[in-house]
Amino acid sequence: MTGNRSAVEPDIVLAGAGIMSATLAVLLKELEPSLNIEMFETLGGAAQESSDAWNNAGTGHAANCELNYTPERSDGTIDISKALDVNVEFDLSRQFWSYLEMSIVPSLRSGV
Ligand SMILES: Cc1cc2nc3c(=O)[nH]c(=O)nc-3n(C[C@H](O)[C@H](O)[C@H](O)COP(=O)(O)OP(=O)(O)OC[C@H]3O[C@@H](n4cnc5c(N)ncnc54)[C@H](O)[C@@H]3O)c2cc1C
Repeated sequence: MTGNRSAVEPDIVLAGAGIMSATLAVLLKELEPSLNIEMFETLGGAAQESSDAWNNAGTGHAANCELNYTPERSDGTIDISKALDVNVEFDLSRQFWSYLEMSIVPSLRSGV
């Protein structure tokens, strides 16, 4: 965050402290724990723009209720292929967050 620059040259710099930077930082740390990642944010704290719970619809992109993922074809049938693709991606991200919840959060809570 602004004002908390580390003395070590960062391996990776992330602009913005929204959910995308946070997720990318966690993924990168999982792949390479020794990475030194620096995150910059112009606002006073993390997740104050679109990622703030009050600034988005909060439905998650499971693609279950997004009409733009299920366009109508010229013959009147509905194309659900994009909805299926997005749903798989959503499930993959849920698996990732479940893994973090199970493997990392307990050790953070216990301080081990
Ligand atoms: C009205 C609305 C409804 C939505 N509904 C849903 C929904 O139901 N389901 C869903 O999954 N998604 C939804 N979204 C989308 C979702 O909220 C966004 O895709 C997601 O939060 C984007 O995260 P982000 O980290 O990319 O951006 P942000 O959360 O906006 O984070 C970007 C950060 O970067 C900072 N920043 C910008 N420029 C700089 C700079 N030069 N230097 C430092 N910091 C900088 C900003 O201050 C901000 O904090 C919705 C979005 C909106 C606007």
